[in-house]
Amino acid sequence: MILKFLAIFLLLWKTSPAEKARFDGFSVLRVIPKSEKQHLALKQLLRNSQLEIDVWRFPGFVSQSADIQISPKHFFKLNQTLTELGFRSELLIRDVQKLISEQERKNKGVKETAEVFNYGKYHTLDEVNNWIDNVTKFHPNITSVFEVTKSYEGRTIRGIKISTGDGKSKPGFFIEGGIHSREWISPATLLFMAGQMLDRYTADLRIKQMVDSFNWFILPVFNVDGYEYTWSKNRNWRKTRSKHGLCVGVDPNRNWDYDWCKEGASKDPCSDMYCGPNAFSEVEVKGVADFIMKNSKGMKGFIDFHSFAQLWMSPWGYTTKLPPDFKDQDKGSQLAVEALEKVYGTKYKHGSIANTIYVASGSSADWTYGAAKIKYSYGVELRDTGKYGFLLPPEEIIPSGTETLEALIALANYVVNN
Ligand SMILES: [Zn+2]
Repeated sequence: MILKFLAIFLLLWKTSPAEKARFDGFSVLRVIPKSEKQHLALKQLLRNSQLEIDVWRFPGFVSQSADIQISPKHFFKLNQTLTELGFRSELLIRDVQKLISEQERKNKGVKETAEVFNYGKYHTLDEVNNWIDNVTKFHPNITSVFEVTKSYEGRTIRGIKISTGDGKSKPGFFIEGGIHSREWISPATLLFMAGQMLDRYTADLRIKQMVDSFNWFILPVFNVDGYEYTWSKNRNWRKTRSKHGLCVGVDPNRNWDYDWCKEGASKDPCSDMYCGPNAFSEVEVKGVADFIMKNSKGMKGFIDFHSFAQLWMSPWGYTTKLPPDFKDQDKGSQLAVEALEKVYGTKYKHGSIANTIYVASGSSADWTYGAAKIKYSYGVELRDTGKYGFLLPPEEIIPSGTETLEALIALANYVVNN
């Protein structure tokens, strides 16, 4: 009897919500489908909920890699199935928890004082909000705070607007990060770039030109509830935190009201690509969309920053067909990735979303282009290509920010002249 109580206690203790999820012995495998048959079989396999697979990178098409996180409990079964399907898998990450702990330890070691914000560190939502308050206080003439809406759990989604001179006559440029909460490099890169735009404004002519060309709306953390959750409960959380039956969260990048929930999205509330019960079901997505629509008059640029894969992509996501503006849009991508590569040699691919990563419907860039009519709409996948995945060490933040800023300067320069 005592043993039984002890077992129940241990079970409750193990699953108590205060506990932070651990990923000891979880690994990430990379597989590459070599035929359409293998590709379909792989997609089928990834839907098998019994294996508790967490897909880090979805299989887009034949000869493109897919990255799959698997627990030690199901490792053998998955490997056996993959072998039966004719796959040869590569072990990308041996122990996910080890990388999580390493990222945590290194991040704690990055020095920061109350006076000096260190952009080379990953920051909590509270710290990001403090930063927003501080930079807008420090640059009162050219910055202001904008508030989008309240999240499902009641947090305020906030960003900064940078607008110099008489902002009225300028086009807008909206950049957002952290729509998928575990992609930490995205908010960190946005903070760095915004910091540079402000700190170097008076001394650096290229920055000044870029800043002066647009009214900039910078939203570093879109999915605030999810982001908070990645810090406190589960480092691997991707979706929002709304409740749907037995499962939690909607993929906020499958919830936009443009060709919603067709290919490349799931109707299963437990899926990481769950499109939601209806388009714009998520208050965060609806809030940002409303905000963009309200300010879309004259808005010319939009970028949604993700990680990982090193890709610079334009619409469409819902179909492999190309939109009429594709040539102009892709030229912007090309200029961006060329400028980016010049800094440290980091290689990015570019093209339309569906042809570069995978078909995904209900995504942000399709809506900003298709519905809000922002011609230069992009989805970007930042560093890396899979060595660390979402668990990129903090020493890569400033390099990522530095190269991405160059890409942004090149793109802004192109967009303003087109
Ligand atoms: Zn993402």
